[in-house]
Amino acid sequence: MTITHLEKKIKAIKNKIFQLGPMLPGSLKKQWNVCGKKQCKCKDPKNPKKHGPYYQLSFSIKGKSSTLFVKEKNVPEIKKRIKRFKIFKQLSNELIASYVQLVRKQFQNSTDLGDNHSDSEHLEPKIKS
Ligand SMILES: [Zn+2]
Repeated sequence: MTITHLEKKIKAIKNKIFQLGPMLPGSLKKQWNVCGKKQCKCKDPKNPKKHGPYYQLSFSIKGKSSTLFVKEKNVPEIKKRIKRFKIFKQLSNELIASYVQLVRKQFQNSTDLGDNHSDSEHLEPKIKS
C-alpha cells in the first residue's frame, strides 16, 4: 500500500468514526429480583414469581465500574448503542494500525525510525502491568 492509499484509508476510517451515532460501553443483562415485602408473590413458597425483567447495563470507565438501569422500552436503542461502541473499537484499532503502517512507510529510509531495529522498541513501548 502506498502512502496515498494509506492516507485515504485513514480518512475513510475517521469518517466512519465521525458518523457513528451515540454509543455505550458494557453489556446489558436481564434480571429478575426478589423484593423486601414479606408476603409478596416473589416469595411464594410454592410458585414464586420474581419481579422483572429488569435490564441493567454494566460497564467500567477509567477503571471504575458502574451500572445503569434501562427501561424495557429503551432496550432496542441501548443495544444499538452498545453495538456502535464495538464498531468504534474496531475502527479505532484499524485507525491506529494504519497510522503505524503510515509511519513505517514515511520513515522507512530514516535511520532513527527504521525497520532494521527490533520492531517494537521505537513505536510501541512495552507497558508494564
Ligand atoms: Zn416482591
